[in-house]
Amino acid sequence: RPRILSGMQPTDDSLTLGNYIGALTQWVALQDSYDTLYMMADLHALTVNPEPARLRERTRRTLAQYLAGGVDPERSTLFVQSHVPEHAELAWILSCQTGFGEASRMTQFKDKAAKQGTDGTTVGLFTYPVLMAADILLYDAERVPVGEDQRQHLEITRDIAERLNTRFGHDTVVVPEPHIVKAVAKIYDLQEPTSKMSKSATGKGTIWLLDDPKVSAKRIKSAVTDDEAVVRYDPAAKPGVSNLLTIFSALTGRTIPDLETEYADKQYGHLKVDLAEAVVEFLTPFQERVDSYLSDPAELDRVLAAGAQKAREIASTTLARVYDRVGLLPAS
Ligand code: ATP
Ligand code: MG
Repeated sequence: RPRILSGMQPTDDSLTLGNYIGALTQWVALQDSYDTLYMMADLHALTVNPEPARLRERTRRTLAQYLAGGVDPERSTLFVQSHVPEHAELAWILSCQTGFGEASRMTQFKDKAAKQGTDGTTVGLFTYPVLMAADILLYDAERVPVGEDQRQHLEITRDIAERLNTRFGHDTVVVPEPHIVKAVAKIYDLQEPTSKMSKSATGKGTIWLLDDPKVSAKRIKSAVTDDEAVVRYDPAAKPGVSNLLTIFSALTGRTIPDLETEYADKQYGHLKVDLAEAVVEFLTPFQERVDSYLSDPAELDRVLAAGAQKAREIASTTLARVYDRVGLLPAS
């Protein structure tokens, strides 16, 4: 079965609705037909300098949210990135094959760096895409299910992989294909519907999976829309309303044209009230499941130990191959 790798950063206690719709629901569906590996990207999370005890806690909570979202440890390999040291090791090799200018063109770095200022930004944040390339290439992953926001990072991964194969032999690494599900690919901030909903945003435009559902309902009801007062899916002209329709469709399984028809002669308020209800109906049982997973830390640790062992078997084979190809002398 073709292999798939993806992950999320434990940068907050809670994931967002963007992570859920854009990534987690896809991960769950992919378990049926692929050999799936899903990690908690704690090394990536270090790029923003988290408080140590919080990072540990968030890594566990992220796992509990994967499980509550339907990722099945019997069918998927679940592991913590730092438990597989090959990630950091391969990243070094790849960073020596990545152009400085090439890395400088990554828009996510430019956006995040602009917010934090040059002094607040780290070299780790700059080389983040190289670590991400290592994550993917270690597992010979053929497909990488990520949101639209990660497209550029996947492209640089492909470029690095092709460069490696050109220099060191065509089968040094597997060049991955992106796997972006168009219709549900990207969820936007409710207050600023032209920026993506993100864990690092601090405003009231984010729906947190572990927030009080009442707060989330309120956020849906006060989402920014427009003055046209017609419910219509048109992301360019009507980003706010279109985002609400995307979320509604993803949570209920109803199609966007179907929703457009139902709300055609209704006010935005009706759409918001109904969507708020759908969000609460989704969040309430989700949070119950998260709590139940978190109440058994020994079981979470067992899942992680088994996952790390399986992941390392694959990763160590790839790393040995790459070390050999680039000319590192094997330790005897
Ligand atoms: P951060 O602000 O910490 O980068 P994030 O919300 O971007 O947080 P990540 O951990 O970087 O989350 O990404 C996890 C996964 O969620 C990735 O596959 C990413 O493509 C996806 N994702 C993140 N935000 C969205 C969004 N708004 N819509 C769809 N998918 C998203
Ligand atoms: Mg991100």
